[in-house]
Amino acid sequence: MGYDRGSQAKLVKEASDIVAVIGSYLALTPAGSLYKGLCPFHHDSRPSLTVDPKWQNFRCWACGKHGDVFTFVQEFEKLDFREALHLLANRAGIKLDESDPGPSRAHLYEVVRWAAEQYHQCLLDDVLAESARHYLGQRGLTGKTVRGYTLGYAPASGDWLLTQASKAAGITLQTLEEVGLIARRSGPARRAGSDYYDRFRDRIIFPIRDARGQVVGFGGRVLPGTAAAQRGPKYYNSADTPLFCKSELLYGLDRAREAAAQAGYLALVEGYTDVLMAHQCGVLPVVATMGTALNSKHVQQLRRFTQRVILVFDADAGGATGVERALEILLRHEIDLAIATLPEGMDPCDLILREGPEAFRQVLANAVDALTYQLQRLLRDERNQGVAGRQRVIDSILGLVVTNLASGSDEQRVKEELILAQLANTMDLPHSVVRDRLTQLRQAKAAGPASAAAERSPASQPLPLPQTPPPADQPPRQGDAASQYPRRPAPTHERELLELLLAHPSYLPEAMGLIAVDELTHPIGRQLYQMLGELHARGEPADVDGLRLAGCEPALVRKAMSLREVGLHNQAPGDWLTRIAAAFARQRAKRTQLEVQKHLQAADHASAVELLKRIQQVGRVAGPPGSTTGG
Ligand SMILES: [Zn+2]
Repeated sequence: MGYDRGSQAKLVKEASDIVAVIGSYLALTPAGSLYKGLCPFHHDSRPSLTVDPKWQNFRCWACGKHGDVFTFVQEFEKLDFREALHLLANRAGIKLDESDPGPSRAHLYEVVRWAAEQYHQCLLDDVLAESARHYLGQRGLTGKTVRGYTLGYAPASGDWLLTQASKAAGITLQTLEEVGLIARRSGPARRAGSDYYDRFRDRIIFPIRDARGQVVGFGGRVLPGTAAAQRGPKYYNSADTPLFCKSELLYGLDRAREAAAQAGYLALVEGYTDVLMAHQCGVLPVVATMGTALNSKHVQQLRRFTQRVILVFDADAGGATGVERALEILLRHEIDLAIATLPEGMDPCDLILREGPEAFRQVLANAVDALTYQLQRLLRDERNQGVAGRQRVIDSILGLVVTNLASGSDEQRVKEELILAQLANTMDLPHSVVRDRLTQLRQAKAAGPASAAAERSPASQPLPLPQTPPPADQPPRQGDAASQYPRRPAPTHERELLELLLAHPSYLPEAMGLIAVDELTHPIGRQLYQMLGELHARGEPADVDGLRLAGCEPALVRKAMSLREVGLHNQAPGDWLTRIAAAFARQRAKRTQLEVQKHLQAADHASAVELLKRIQQVGRVAGPPGSTTGG
């Protein structure tokens, strides 16, 4: 290369603030002098990723991924260094030396963007697009939406895009084929003319953007009553290309992500026009899959922007498979899933057109958490089936737990307890009875297919169902949630944090800024701290009453009440929080130290140097040890 790449990289790095760049990929919240977010490189359930504006680097305290702005973009976008350099240079408006041929991936983006613009101009101006404009107008989409989402039209001729490409500079057939816009003819058709044909013909074009708003592919919808409508599928998406992965992308996410942080949810609908119509009337946190069912990859993306996902089902489709799949996902991931049901025979677009955006907002507001929804549905199906029916309901839910929730981590144990508590509560059964049944089913599964028969026919191992519910005020039972937890006491600073916050809830926002949920090592404390944070984020009272209203299980509420009792005796909560935060900071420093030792032993010099810098920094923040109260 004939130019100094090193100085170009330096220039680009200086122009790319790491907080702004990472913040464009995921939600970051300030935490002291740092920023925190959910790590995109591992299955993160708490914000483990810290971004340091001063050192311009990032680190995940859970998976260990770390580096500068280039590392982040390379890892996130799966690019090599040169490609990341180009991407960041583009973003910063820096023109790199032209002698560089440029990365192929950047060129693919360019070609896709070019094609989107061609289709868009066609829809806006071309006489060929008359019926397409008419159709979109009929569907209630405004000109502003059409322009804002660069909707387009692909004419029917079959070589329209090829013709446009022949007139444009730098658009090769090879690249158009690579991004899935044209395909090679085969067989006899080949003799008729060109080697290639347009893949999108006589369709409305919906450019599909990734989470940061780059066009990566296209969805095409047929116009009703056309020849294409009779031949092909209603919707047609780009095939998977180096840029476009159908099973991962979510339509509208680039527009919905910021609104999601504010609204506290993302709603998942089915069609592109549903998303557009919702956005058009101001209901922004709405996205759609590319015609596939919600899967783990979607969830990983959604979790970067929200903790709560609302699946919007048709009245008739909300049945068996959709909800059951949703429950499986709920169990496998750290995410809140709720189910919203549309009125009979309407999709969101119809609903908004006929009854206005308020009606759709109401549908979302009425969403029920997935487990409650499924329990209600099963109970409705089994309503006249007596004891056997009730057993089937219990086994159906516990069966999902056995298959999808590996017992192991504290988080999974908490989730399991919450499910058992809700099941016991709904079925009016002692917690211990439900837990025993879960153990039976787990053992049956572990023992293999022979005894799995027992699992399938609950009658062979009847549940001791009481005829009357147990008295409400009886003392905690054996199987009660709190007694399932390890008996080890929580570290003092963790216990004090909860005492303080439950007694003085107004300190919660400050505490959340200083101490991350995953810094609490004791499961009960961590669960309470997280629930308080969630209540606060939803604008609900983050105190003992709030916990109760949110359906927190009784054993935890009791624990919270006794912590509050202690906390109320402390008269200077502000100073107290400072001392507690310092204790957490020292723990953090200790963890870093251990990590450095590990890295030093592994002779990983680069990471060790960076960690040493961090230690000095953390040490400064934490202050000298020994300044917290003991009790
Ligand atoms: Zn990580």
